[in-house]
Amino acid sequence: MRAMTEAQLEALRKLLGPEKVSQNESELKVHARDEGGQIESPPDCVVYAESRDDVVKVLQFCNDEGIPVVPWGAGTSLEANPVALYGGVCLDLSRMNAIKALRPEDFQVTVEPGVVHYELNKKLSKHGLFFPPDPGAPATIGGIVANNAAGIQAVKYGSVKHYVLQLEVVLANGEVLRCGSRAMRSSSGYDLVHLFVGSEGTLGVFTEITLKLVGLPPEVSAAVASFPALEGATRAVVELVQAGLSPAALELMDPITVRDINAFKGLTLPEAPTLFLEFRGNGPEVAEDVRLARSICEGNGCTRFESVVGREARDRLWEARHHAYYASAAANPGKRAIITDVAVPISKFPEMVEFARGKLEEFGLGGPILGHAGDGNFHVGIFYGDEQERAKAQAVNEAIVLKALELGGTATGEHGVGVGKIKFMPREHGASYGWMRRIKELFDPNGILNPGKVFPLEADRAP
Ligand SMILES: Cc1cc2nc3c(=O)[nH]c(=O)nc-3n(C[C@H](O)[C@H](O)[C@H](O)COP(=O)(O)OP(=O)(O)OC[C@H]3O[C@@H](n4cnc5c(N)ncnc54)[C@H](O)[C@@H]3O)c2cc1C
Repeated sequence: MRAMTEAQLEALRKLLGPEKVSQNESELKVHARDEGGQIESPPDCVVYAESRDDVVKVLQFCNDEGIPVVPWGAGTSLEANPVALYGGVCLDLSRMNAIKALRPEDFQVTVEPGVVHYELNKKLSKHGLFFPPDPGAPATIGGIVANNAAGIQAVKYGSVKHYVLQLEVVLANGEVLRCGSRAMRSSSGYDLVHLFVGSEGTLGVFTEITLKLVGLPPEVSAAVASFPALEGATRAVVELVQAGLSPAALELMDPITVRDINAFKGLTLPEAPTLFLEFRGNGPEVAEDVRLARSICEGNGCTRFESVVGREARDRLWEARHHAYYASAAANPGKRAIITDVAVPISKFPEMVEFARGKLEEFGLGGPILGHAGDGNFHVGIFYGDEQERAKAQAVNEAIVLKALELGGTATGEHGVGVGKIKFMPREHGASYGWMRRIKELFDPNGILNPGKVFPLEADRAP
């Protein structure tokens, strides 16, 4: 569907300068799908914003003309979050990538939305600081905040919402709103900052973000624990958390994931249910945590517990973990995948993982099970090749989400609603979903901001 006329495109070029408005086929193609790749839908044009003023101009124009605007960070989402379902403008914010103010004395940084998180962390490390949320993909801070992303360190440090202090947001009508403060705590009024965090580009476009930072730990120690059965690994996770250990990462991988990583990265990890653990702190504290973790793992049948000492070895391990998605994609050439993202209370984690494994088996589908176990959050990569397999993959996904909701969990722990999780929203939120829709209508009465995400199109009243 084409949403924009030639006259509108010409007006936009005049407003911003032709170099910022692209209809180049390859750029439209790059912006037509995210990393999840479930849906492909090109925008009518890509606008490369270089300043807040550009964003204001785009939104004022599109709001007046009823043109969809879909913010884009790096496109690493997995639920079609930044895909322009109804054409219009893909508003690419990657050129707005300045660090505006670094205040090490306050453990704070103010950035434009296009800053890539690991590049930020490279700069912060010179000051002994870091920004913990790490989605493992080269994501932008704007996209990370808009998806309320989390990643492997969230078990110790929390997800993005714990780190956003202040936001500058351009609303659908072009108004610039600043919310929050630089105080480390505040009970002043409604918390609009956290309304925008996780709003997936449906309520406004972030143009400046102030983040809280954390000091780099003096000691880091990682370990790899292998188990004869998945159940032993998931029970160990529950005990590790319940023992009050605070690992900086506690990741589960099933044998398929380990096999894929081995093949992709040339490693020789035992192809068994595996936990990757990481502890941070001072030397004796870390050694004691590793000792206790080992004893809990062994109590649950762990057959191999290998300490990984030193930052370099640790980095290699986590690099392998970060490549798990690409490793599994490489092991399933020509196939696409639905990536589940449920999270459940920690005591329900073993039951949830076992349920997911059983469903894959029942439907005769293969797929890796891996995830941020310490938070009760995990992913199943349900690969499919043809329509028949796709229908089965959808049935498995649905069964997994419904089970998670039944266990008191959520449809999405960190990837956001995008398109794929919309159908579960009424069940997960009940009447609250209706209030969310009212908020959407208040901020975006013409429904131009990322239509068809979080809410279905009809409810969105998109153009
Ligand atoms: C290999 C791989 C591993 C991953 N692992 C994790 C993981 O462990 N944890 C995790 O949480 N996620 C993970 N992800 C998902 C993804 O990286 C995150 O959701 C990330 O936050 C997306 O950031 P992005 O910059 O790519 O944003 P995009 O995908 O471009 O956009 C994300 C959403 O934010 C909106 N948006 C972008 N910029 C702005 C802005 N400035 N203002 C308002 N809205 C905006 C978009 O419209 C869209 O709705 C993974 C992805 C991949 C490919």
